[in-house]
Amino acid sequence: MATRVIPPRILRNLRYNTATRPLSAPNPTISPTVAPPYFVEKTDPAILKPPSSASDADSILNFDNVEKLFSYVPTFRLLRSSAILHATAVGPVVDFGMWLMKSKVMEVDFLKRPVLASIKHTFYEHFCAGEDAVTAGESIRLLRQAGLRGMLVYGVEDANDNDACDRNHNGFLHTVDVSRSLPPSSVSFVIVKITAICPMKLLERVSDLLRWQEKDPSFNLPWKRDTLPLFSESSPLYHTRKRPEPLSREEEHELELAIQRMQELCEKCVQNNIPLLVDAEHTSVQPAIDYFTYSSAILYNREDKPIVFGTIQTYLKDAKERLLIATEAAEEMGIPMGFKLVRGAYMSSERTLATSLGFASPIHNNIQATHKCFNDCSAFLLEKIANGPGALVLATHNVESGKLAAAKAHELGMGKVNHKLEFAQLHGMSEALSFALSNAGFQVSKYMPFGPVETVMPYLLRRAEENRGILAASGFDRQLMRKELKRRLTAAVV
Ligand SMILES: Cc1cc2nc3c(=O)[nH]c(=O)nc-3n(C[C@H](O)[C@H](O)[C@H](O)COP(=O)(O)OP(=O)(O)OC[C@H]3O[C@@H](n4cnc5c(N)ncnc54)[C@H](O)[C@@H]3O)c2cc1C
Repeated sequence: MATRVIPPRILRNLRYNTATRPLSAPNPTISPTVAPPYFVEKTDPAILKPPSSASDADSILNFDNVEKLFSYVPTFRLLRSSAILHATAVGPVVDFGMWLMKSKVMEVDFLKRPVLASIKHTFYEHFCAGEDAVTAGESIRLLRQAGLRGMLVYGVEDANDNDACDRNHNGFLHTVDVSRSLPPSSVSFVIVKITAICPMKLLERVSDLLRWQEKDPSFNLPWKRDTLPLFSESSPLYHTRKRPEPLSREEEHELELAIQRMQELCEKCVQNNIPLLVDAEHTSVQPAIDYFTYSSAILYNREDKPIVFGTIQTYLKDAKERLLIATEAAEEMGIPMGFKLVRGAYMSSERTLATSLGFASPIHNNIQATHKCFNDCSAFLLEKIANGPGALVLATHNVESGKLAAAKAHELGMGKVNHKLEFAQLHGMSEALSFALSNAGFQVSKYMPFGPVETVMPYLLRRAEENRGILAASGFDRQLMRKELKRRLTAAVV
């Protein structure tokens, strides 16, 4: 589908088009077996108000009562979390961990075992859901007791060939089975990484071809299915400098296999009534990832029920434009879209690549612009879903963004009664924000990778490497945890 041009004036204002459009019936072949648990009520457009201020927001999320905030966290866990977050906030500790995992030590069996054991009982248990489906299920049950839900993430590496894709695919299918076996609604989403079910090289090729077609609309891509727009006028196209060769027959076959994996996963999610959330990655492969996401959404998202959710990284300069264009196209096609908003995890590698090719970085010039973009996109989507189809996941540890979105959602009459909105934080991160949002009546999920220590740790360390800011930014949580530990100690002594 060709990208439609939206006048810059409109994009600058990011107007909130709240009119509900008539929905034409999309064409899925599968119907859900159970009523959707996360679409309960519609809100009244009459209660729309202007965007909220941070001071309104302060009254909705309460961080002062640490006893209430951490009431579900046993003292042992509070102590361990506090210690681990301290350790991960120290740069050299993270550096050492990354060096160790990549070093020759891990090739020597009798050295590797104690290293993995100690990692398992500290960092792994803090940030991960467990080694297998059974322990992951236990972690989800514990979360549920604390009023939170889980996003199950089968922790796998990027795939380089079809065998790896098939193995990963089976893991993702199994994750849906695990979710189904747990108490209803305790798993909010199953996560899929397209880079694990389609070989990376092919994702790069497909992205190149899609980008070239964006530069030259006459460029024919015979394999291309219906999709929402993948690019806006300001999207970076510098990764593709010269006209790429068409896909070979073998590549087309591999692409078909990958699409089939995605479709099988979507069908299983529809049958089990669990939404599928597609993670976003580097801009070099993101066009292909969005293509997988949107072409599947067109097939499987129906009426007011998104099954396939895409991710928008708001650290990208073109994020607002792409979101607006995709949302408008989805509305016109009658497709209810689900989006997850994140800031983005690949800032340094994106900047390095752009610089090496002699182009401006696709990332906002400063962190304030990223914050503004996240908050604007969040307000835009909140108004959309309050008045029409679609759903939103706000994946952030940023307390200000959490407060602003909570206030906006509150004004729009969302919260406990409206299950189109989910807040999300990584497991082991931002417990205070998660509990404050949950106490205020919102649905909150923790992003929970699971799998064998050896498989998941490199994945986590890479996240830590790409995302140092997250770990260092745990200061607010550590401060509140210390306060609560002190309170419990005093209460025990007195
Ligand atoms: C549930 C969940 C799912 C996630 N899924 C994905 C995913 O699919 N894809 C993905 O890429 N990430 C994903 N992330 C990671 C997410 O991008 C990071 O958590 C996020 O970048 C950290 O930002 P924050 O919103 O917590 O806020 P903060 O910690 O306040 O913001 C830090 C972020 O701001 C941005 N930033 C920092 N400095 C600058 C600067 N100088 N200029 C411009 N921007 C700057 C960066 O994105 C940085 O990570 C996910 C996170 C969660 C919690």
